[in-house]
Amino acid sequence: MARIRANLGLCQGYANCAIEAEDVFDIDDDGTVVVLRSEVPEPERARVEAAARTCPVHALSVE
Ligand code: SF4
Repeated sequence: MARIRANLGLCQGYANCAIEAEDVFDIDDDGTVVVLRSEVPEPERARVEAAARTCPVHALSVE
């Protein structure tokens, strides 16, 4: 499984991540990312990593 972590202190609410992977990331009313699925199966890793790389402030990591 791939674990997804979000640094909420860095998140600026650009929503790139939620646009790329709407089943994994959402944005709350305060404009901060919400990780909907903190673990995803390995076959989904590349897609989620690609979504994480779209974050302009590098707030997301996939381990
Ligand atoms: S792309 Fe980055 S800054 Fe934008 S909502 Fe997602 S985690 Fe936050």
